[in-house]
Amino acid sequence: MAAPASMEIQQAAEQLRRGRLVAFPTETVYGLGADALNAEAVASVYALKGRPGNNPLIVHVADAATARRLVSDWPDAATRLAERFWPGPLTLVMRKSGIVPLSVTAGGGTVAVRCPDHPVALGLLRAFGGPMVGPSANASGAVSPTTAAHVRAAFPEAIARHELMVLDGGACRTGIESTVLDISGAEFGILRRGAISAEEIGRLLGRRVEVGGDDRLGEGAMPSPGMLSRHYSPRTPARLFDEREWPGVLTGYRKVVVIAGPRRVVPPPHLHVALPEEAEAYAAGLYAALHEADAAGGDAILIQRPGGSGSMWDAVRDRLTRACGE
Ligand code: AMP
Ligand code: MG
Repeated sequence: MAAPASMEIQQAAEQLRRGRLVAFPTETVYGLGADALNAEAVASVYALKGRPGNNPLIVHVADAATARRLVSDWPDAATRLAERFWPGPLTLVMRKSGIVPLSVTAGGGTVAVRCPDHPVALGLLRAFGGPMVGPSANASGAVSPTTAAHVRAAFPEAIARHELMVLDGGACRTGIESTVLDISGAEFGILRRGAISAEEIGRLLGRRVEVGGDDRLGEGAMPSPGMLSRHYSPRTPARLFDEREWPGVLTGYRKVVVIAGPRRVVPPPHLHVALPEEAEAYAAGLYAALHEADAAGGDAILIQRPGGSGSMWDAVRDRLTRACGE
């Protein structure tokens, strides 16, 4: 896929200045971009996604200097984390400054910021010259997009009405959403697992980092909704199965789609969508596999629970259990 030309990026930046939306590739998933300092533009992001107003947005920035303007308190840890992991799949939650509209933060006192590691995202942010909200470019609760085709399939009307422009940067490299780390309080906690692990962060900072500390979140807003039990879900009913349940798990179904490793032999009329055995490659292909399985028109999607250990597998299993609403 050819990268968007600089002229297209300039057009996209102009679209943002007019308060309209631009879907853009990042290393994690495609984002739905809008001017983060324009409350009306932000409202149209919620409207297009059908996103509940109590689910805050991540603000994307080209650099740490822009991030600093969005927060009232920039902890020392933020400097070290940004130096080490930005641009990259780490979102930092800090106390917001006055310039950030409350719609961005769902009425809360903290704001989530990250600098994406993708030339198109960074080119767009620089051309636009300011911060941009960028939730995943899918209807709320649905499977995140990792290709421009996924985005186009999700929002055909908005694209036809020229309210949404899509920048095509090919398939996303990492494939699952960023790690969300709350550093707004005395204790630091991972609100959403991602490619950057609690151990890596803890080692860098020389301190303890909790995982899944959503009960610590104040502000009356909902905890990090990446923590909702049903999220990232295909429309077709999906469930996880373990190796020992095979092939009994197929009983009673007319036609299912099995998402499993490349060596699984799936008897017809059932379909097989294969994912690699290695964690990073599995994560990179996961959402495309869910989109493909959803489009295949089976009665169900059966996903073999991967057994691997390590933080990337933990992040993958987190998304799988949510996709299945478990
Ligand atoms: P997405 O819609 O895929 O971009 O997901 C954004 C994630 O960041 C969700 O899990 C949000 O709940 C989380 N998030 C955004 N802002 C905040 C915040 N201020 N505090 C905690 N979590 C946040
Ligand atoms: Mg999302």
